[in-house]
Amino acid sequence: MSLRSRRRLTLANIREQVIGINAKVPIFGGKRVRYVNLDNAATTPTLKPVLQQIEDFLPWYAGVHRSTGHKSLVSTTVYDEAREIIARFFGTHPDHHVVIFGKNTTEVINLLARRLCLSQGDIVLGTMMEHHSNDLPWRQFAKVMRIRVDREGRLDLADLEQKLTMHHRRIKLVTGSGASNVTVWINDIAHIARLAHRYDIPIMVDGAQLAAHRVIDLLDPNDPHHIDFLAVSGHKLYAPFGTGVLIGPRHLFEKGSPALVGGGTVKLVTISQTSWANPPFKEEAGSPNVVGVVALATALKVLDALDLNEIAHHEQSLTDYALRHLATVPGLRIHGSTLPQDPNRLGVISFELAGYHHTLVAAILAFQAGIGVRSGCFCAQPYLHHLLALDTKDMARLQKELASGNTRYLPGLIRISFGMYNNTKELHRLVEALHAITSRPSDYWQDKLTWCEKLGSYMPKDQDLDPIPFSLSVNDT
Ligand code: PMP
Repeated sequence: MSLRSRRRLTLANIREQVIGINAKVPIFGGKRVRYVNLDNAATTPTLKPVLQQIEDFLPWYAGVHRSTGHKSLVSTTVYDEAREIIARFFGTHPDHHVVIFGKNTTEVINLLARRLCLSQGDIVLGTMMEHHSNDLPWRQFAKVMRIRVDREGRLDLADLEQKLTMHHRRIKLVTGSGASNVTVWINDIAHIARLAHRYDIPIMVDGAQLAAHRVIDLLDPNDPHHIDFLAVSGHKLYAPFGTGVLIGPRHLFEKGSPALVGGGTVKLVTISQTSWANPPFKEEAGSPNVVGVVALATALKVLDALDLNEIAHHEQSLTDYALRHLATVPGLRIHGSTLPQDPNRLGVISFELAGYHHTLVAAILAFQAGIGVRSGCFCAQPYLHHLLALDTKDMARLQKELASGNTRYLPGLIRISFGMYNNTKELHRLVEALHAITSRPSDYWQDKLTWCEKLGSYMPKDQDLDPIPFSLSVNDT
């Protein structure tokens, strides 16, 4: 696959390659402004070279692996090439690793949780900062223990050592996110790996949040710092076409039955017996998402061409800028590190604004300033509860509110998260908007908005403001 591009891709011109970068959205007063997307931790926009590659490939699209027409041969070859590109991007060793495709990080972690053949006496050692997708799947098959985090939400590595010393016989896996999806923290994967490997315990890195921002290298399996399993999502890597990736040791997937069974997973089937195909096909039941895989491979080629170290450098400077300027907003409290020039920080910053509920702030940023952020608990509720120091009384109150169907005042934070294409101009707009919010009381803003329980957010009262400027026009058919 080649990247057809008239101009050399660089970080300086990457904004031109982001689809929708100039989209204008409606705000109060009937104006339209250019949208600022500060919600890249949720999902990233599509890159033009990715879409171009899909358009180039689609005329050749056909069934893979089990068909023999020319288009099938092309599709099969491209699908295999894409797997190789993805494998190389993460530093896999072809004789040791296998790359398995699923639909997202959540799905492939579920797949692994099933395939590790855990039992309830086993322990999976996770962390208190995990996304629900790297916590709930393990609860189904083993006891989950969690490495503590400190008040600022940073992983307590001494606690990891202690738990390993005490429980290593029962711990079957150590798992943690490469970087938090809530606070700026990047975890010291190499250190965690070395500690776990001392006891021959494998580690699984949830790379959903880290992969688009830092180099992830699985390393040689004999290196004590290596990563045993990695899970990532294409939609957080500028390829939102439904591909997730699990990488792990091939031998593990050679044993046992796959998590999902059906077409593509077998070599031979009789009415009483099945002989499983070799991994990865054994784990990829049904027709694969060839287009999504091509998209992801192309996006990774772009990231490679741009150089992830350059991207990290740029995003770090955005983080430093944001932390410096957010500190000028009255009543704004950041959760996580606010130290300047810390290289171990991702462009993910969560904060609260005294006197303004997080959902209200997110809605004002959207409808007053055209800025997209996320608010709430970011699918990491135990971590948020810890950061917000909620106690058992608070939890009981929360349960009550939820039972009554009221989600309006649930606790949470406001999160901004950067992609490689964001710039300081956009951050300046955010900081200005936050100053504008705090210059008026909460009631002033509430009067302009109405709570929509169905969407779980505030919507503008302004009848002239159509908050959803794109539609499939269901009723036009
Ligand atoms: N882990 C982390 C750290 C995440 O940030 C996310 C997505 N927010 C996930 C897992 C789940 O990813 P997906 O929704 O693509 O399955």
